[in-house]
Amino acid sequence: MRPLACQLSPEGEAYFQKMLELARTYKLRAMHWADFFEIFPCNRADHGHLPGKYSIYAQGQRMLRFGRELREASPGIMLGADGGFTNPQYVRYEDSRAHGTYYGGYEGDHFSAVEPDIHIDRLYADMNRVYLHGSHAVFLRPWYRTLNCVNHYGQESEHHDRAGFRYSLLSALAMAGQVTFNDVPDNMPESEIQFAQRWLNWAKTNKDYLKQSDKLFDRSVHYADVWQGDAESLSGLAHIRGDRGYILLFNPSPVEQIAELTLALDAPSSEHFFVQEVFPGGLTLEGPTNGEYPQGGKLRATVPAKQVRILWIAPASTRAGNQNVRPENVRAEQWRRYVGDWTVAKHTPEAATLRASFQLLATAAPWLASSVPESAWSKEPWAYDKAYLVFFLKDETEELNNNWVPDKLQFQGSAGGATPSETIGVLINGVPKSLHAFKTERNQVKDKTRCYFVNLEGETKTGQNNEVEITLPIRTGLVFSGAYVDLPDQVPAGE
Ligand SMILES: [Zn+2]
Repeated sequence: MRPLACQLSPEGEAYFQKMLELARTYKLRAMHWADFFEIFPCNRADHGHLPGKYSIYAQGQRMLRFGRELREASPGIMLGADGGFTNPQYVRYEDSRAHGTYYGGYEGDHFSAVEPDIHIDRLYADMNRVYLHGSHAVFLRPWYRTLNCVNHYGQESEHHDRAGFRYSLLSALAMAGQVTFNDVPDNMPESEIQFAQRWLNWAKTNKDYLKQSDKLFDRSVHYADVWQGDAESLSGLAHIRGDRGYILLFNPSPVEQIAELTLALDAPSSEHFFVQEVFPGGLTLEGPTNGEYPQGGKLRATVPAKQVRILWIAPASTRAGNQNVRPENVRAEQWRRYVGDWTVAKHTPEAATLRASFQLLATAAPWLASSVPESAWSKEPWAYDKAYLVFFLKDETEELNNNWVPDKLQFQGSAGGATPSETIGVLINGVPKSLHAFKTERNQVKDKTRCYFVNLEGETKTGQNNEVEITLPIRTGLVFSGAYVDLPDQVPAGE
């Protein structure tokens, strides 16, 4: 509203009328409304309000009326607020959105979680989930007013991130039945547009379920929690109405995690349920009691690393046929991609060389032979159908939720070594690889990286053990916790 400092000024009124006309003429579907709530004391005697701070209440009332008028001018219009952490008195009038927020005290634009991962879209999703839950738990925003964002723009790239996008869309819908897309890349394939349409339609069909929301595996929420993602914990939302509903599970971590839920639906104690996998889909979970799940019993669901699982639970009597009943973890094996079993091959006072092995299935062969130039994939590794090894390093001398690490880790060479100063080095099957420090265009801290990665093309073979060696400086606070084989199939299209 600046320079129209007062919401009750004639200039302000004229502006409101123009906006209403715009909304009415074009049937606006969405509007960024909440910045109008920047209300300043006004001393003008001719505006019809009390002076100074006493003008604020009257101006706020005018804003709320403006909101009602906008909704009348274009029924169903979404009235958004950035972040939505405005005055808790207002949140019930806004459809909040969050596209990642300030992180770890870092000042900047909206920010994704800082974790060792090359998929920024996914990191935004993890941050947004935590943030929106905070806006519900701390600022008491009702679930039905919650709006989520599917982010891409942190990449500052027109290339699509398939794994990040799919994860991000499903994560956004888990928190809110309505989503916005912030920046859609030019080269988004038809398959991804269909994926989006399928799940937006699903959200529309199931909006009454999505309005009911309970966070699973919850601990008490503290205000500080909304400033960080929950990268190491399984995250889940239950959207249950009475005796049936959906369970959406997200695993941002590099290892599989198992959800164990106690069934306490609104049903008699004698009730039995069936559980169907909706995403990736195509199977019915084999329950512990004649294939079913009794009320009061346990439901276990294994969620692979970096993946999403969506389940439908309902009374067994509503089940239609016996569709592909399988143990819940029947597909777990193919998704185990954490390289965590390392031995110390050698070390000096300055550096340690660690060794581990990993395997790739034959299906990974096409990703080990691509013609993408290094200048392209090293900058935007997430955009290409390639296989990478992502290394997990954290600098524990920094505050707990700051996971940036230096982008140059140099140290003195081993005694007798030819080079006085070495940098972190990686060998795959004995062949030196060029190690890349992952950087983003937007919100990149200088001289830091979220993670180091190598391209697996060339030396890595499918169907056999591949040996990886990494030489790291021994430095106080620098913690190495393994690696993740990042393959392009990590969030499947679903059945
Ligand atoms: Zn005024």
